[in-house]
Amino acid sequence: MLVDLHTHHRNRSQCAKDDEEDMIQSAIERGLDGIVFTDHGKFVPKKRLTELRKKYPKICLWSGIEITTCEWCDFVVIGLRDKCLEYDIPQSVHDLKWTADELIKYVRKKGGWIHLCHPSFQNGLMPPAMMERRAPYAIEMRSNTIPEHQMHDIQDMALIWGCRLVAVSDAHDVNGLGRYAVRLNGRVRTERQLINKLLRNEYTLKLGEENEGIS
Ligand SMILES: [Zn+2]
Ligand SMILES: [Zn+2]
Repeated sequence: MLVDLHTHHRNRSQCAKDDEEDMIQSAIERGLDGIVFTDHGKFVPKKRLTELRKKYPKICLWSGIEITTCEWCDFVVIGLRDKCLEYDIPQSVHDLKWTADELIKYVRKKGGWIHLCHPSFQNGLMPPAMMERRAPYAIEMRSNTIPEHQMHDIQDMALIWGCRLVAVSDAHDVNGLGRYAVRLNGRVRTERQLINKLLRNEYTLKLGEENEGIS
């Protein structure tokens, strides 16, 4: 079951180009079996999610969110719809209320999934303070925003932190979908089942069109 854990939609992400229905249709055409909506600071409204699930029964649609923390790190959270995770697009770093450590602690305690997005900074390193703290469950190793040459450093980082790797699209338009994703062993339906699969490490990474199956 091919799943994209990180996607953006014009309906809620200003930086995204395509509408959620175009994204869903394109995901189906590209062979994805499930996508997670992870717009910046915004959940898909519950009613809308129900409508979309009814309209597109061929694909699993799950609720997530992307959150920027005070350290200017981005995390994807799946399986929680807590109001305290939502926010408006920040004007400056002072508008960001979560620290990475507090966010990771909160999500883990509440039983959600959390992974670090595109972990490279301009100098290619994570802020040292973050390395000493609690780790998220996984780090994105490859996406449309993570170049191939960074994969090695990200793998090392995951080893140091003791966390897994995921591949995602981080797509902001239909063209970005499908190339990078996770392939789950077996099928899931609910967000809980998806999270459990990820936690049990029952997946491999899709890293491009030919080079598949690296776990
Ligand atoms: Zn964006
Ligand atoms: Zn993103």
